[in-house]
Amino acid sequence: MDLNKVFANNKKWIKDRLSADPSFFEGLSKGQNPELLFIGCSDSRVAAEELMGLGPGEVFVHRNIANMVISIDLNVMSVVNYAVNQLQVKDVIVCGHYACGGVKAAMQSADLGILNPWLRNIRDVYRIHRNKLNAIEDEEKRYDRLVELNVQEQCVNLIKTAAVQKANRDRGLKVHGWVFDVKTGKLIDLKIDFDKYLSKIMEIYHLE
Ligand SMILES: [Zn+2]
Repeated sequence: MDLNKVFANNKKWIKDRLSADPSFFEGLSKGQNPELLFIGCSDSRVAAEELMGLGPGEVFVHRNIANMVISIDLNVMSVVNYAVNQLQVKDVIVCGHYACGGVKAAMQSADLGILNPWLRNIRDVYRIHRNKLNAIEDEEKRYDRLVELNVQEQCVNLIKTAAVQKANRDRGLKVHGWVFDVKTGKLIDLKIDFDKYLSKIMEIYHLE
């Protein structure tokens, strides 16, 4: 890729933004007040703001391989705590996507070095839902289902955190699980029942 093109694109972007709103950058420089935290996959096709039709300042974004929320990952936990406690976002979204390379890798028997411990968290999702997944004969469908179940389990991981439990109790913060279908561009709400999971797991994970 010609990186000069990127800088040329940037110039055009500034021009377009200013012609739509002359005080656009002045507004941005005053600070941010996003209402959403979006946790997605690093995959280049999951263009967080673009696929939601949102612009700068509207969404706090964290992306990693296979949109994982791992309790000992200081990176994702810092993002969650900052977004929930400081920025006071109203909704937290875990967004997976079909055709996810990370999820596919976790379905295969291969030594991927440093990726092994990361992908093991997806293998754990498979283990928890093994019976349901093994009952799906079509491999492609099984793979899609694992993408969805992985999103569900990462939402549950969010509910296990003190920051999310407290914000839910004090100001009604909600966690949502979505999947981006790269074949159609459609964003699908998995309609994860936050309250159901909360009541189901709180007996064990209650921190407040
Ligand atoms: Zn992915």
